[in-house]
Amino acid sequence: MDVNVLQHYYDAIVFAYGASRPRKLGIEGEDAANIYSAGDFVNWYNGLPSHRHHQFHLDGPNPKRVIIIGQGNVALDVGRILLTPLDVLANTDMPQYAYDALAKSQVKRVSIIGRRGPVQAAFTNKELREIVNIPGAAFNTRFPFPDPKTLPRPQNRMIDLLRKHQGTTPAEKTISLEFCLKPHRFVTDGDRVVGMEFIRQTLVSPRDPKSPVIELADEERVFVPADMVFTSIGYSSVPLRGMAALGINLIRGVLPNDEGRVKAISARDFGLVRSDDAMMERVDGVYAAGWVKTGPTGVIASTMYSSFETGESLVQDWNDGRSFLKADAEKRGWEGFKEEVRRVGGEPIEWEEWKKIEEEEGKRGEPLGKEREKIVDTRQMLALAGHSP
Ligand code: NAP
Repeated sequence: MDVNVLQHYYDAIVFAYGASRPRKLGIEGEDAANIYSAGDFVNWYNGLPSHRHHQFHLDGPNPKRVIIIGQGNVALDVGRILLTPLDVLANTDMPQYAYDALAKSQVKRVSIIGRRGPVQAAFTNKELREIVNIPGAAFNTRFPFPDPKTLPRPQNRMIDLLRKHQGTTPAEKTISLEFCLKPHRFVTDGDRVVGMEFIRQTLVSPRDPKSPVIELADEERVFVPADMVFTSIGYSSVPLRGMAALGINLIRGVLPNDEGRVKAISARDFGLVRSDDAMMERVDGVYAAGWVKTGPTGVIASTMYSSFETGESLVQDWNDGRSFLKADAEKRGWEGFKEEVRRVGGEPIEWEEWKKIEEEEGKRGEPLGKEREKIVDTRQMLALAGHSP
């Protein structure tokens, strides 16, 4: 069903979805086997039905070395999950299939590699603290860290943390952070990845969190061996079918908006089309929240506050008597929309029905000592909600 159908039933639509398309590096060898998107891995261990059957070759006869490209929080999450002891994972709401696969994992070394330095890294201190404290894993990093006193507060704390933990006692498992290595190509044995070649980078001003790199004529190539690679270099949102019919479009992966009010190029502007703000105006009754509003940045708290802002914009517009979508008077709301969903062969799920699924997840988690055991099969979900799958 195209999203523009909603305009017949509601006065406003809030697009509150995320960024699901992983960005690609676009370098040689990227399609070889054992190269994965970090986002797919996260969706898999979080139990998304669409990712239930993904395979990550974690087991096998040899200890495995893993490279993660990118130094954002997603990269750190992937590294942490790969090396976290099973007794710790057992207390999370990770689905059993992911736990079982991780129980067989032979991953022993994880290198999280960034193209810039520690001061420019995108991860936050809370996530870094979790990485340096993984039980049973050594943490390693080598870098001429700048004097933290000269840095802004978050970077000051981060460098302090890195310095304190660099070169901890060796252990069977190691997680390391490597800096200033730009991915150049994946090295393969013709089929699977066996490592990556990087170009060493030099920063223009290592203390500046926004520092670019210096382009050097003499490139130093660095080879890092690996049995698996995860790329974790960000995401973009994808457009939904029917958006164009609402008069809106994503630009560079987000819905252009003003405090959540979605904007589009003004229909009154003919001729030269520029994508700058000046020619954009509010689209009646259409709002955005989440990463489709902001792009893939920020932690849960900042995304939450950004969503409150969208809610406030909507209420303010309503109270100010601004124009909204023109819902058909006789079709209004959920009751009418449900019929439309059924007409096209869909199964609308009521709130009370959804709660039955949640209750069952809790029950299944109890004997395992978990908050819940997620149900990852949509047919099972439908059956529990009292629908024929
Ligand atoms: P991110 O924070 O934007 O980090 C992307 C990383 O990829 C950066 O280190 C970036 O380096 C690097 N990168 C981009 N293009 C590259 C290229 N061509 N070659 C090499 N490296 C490249 O993205 P993310 O980790 O996907 O996270 C997205 C958002 O979710 C972030 O705001 C994050 O904080 C949030 N998040 C939060 C949590 C949490 O709250 N626990 C957990 C997961 C994610 P440059 O800086 O040099 O571009």
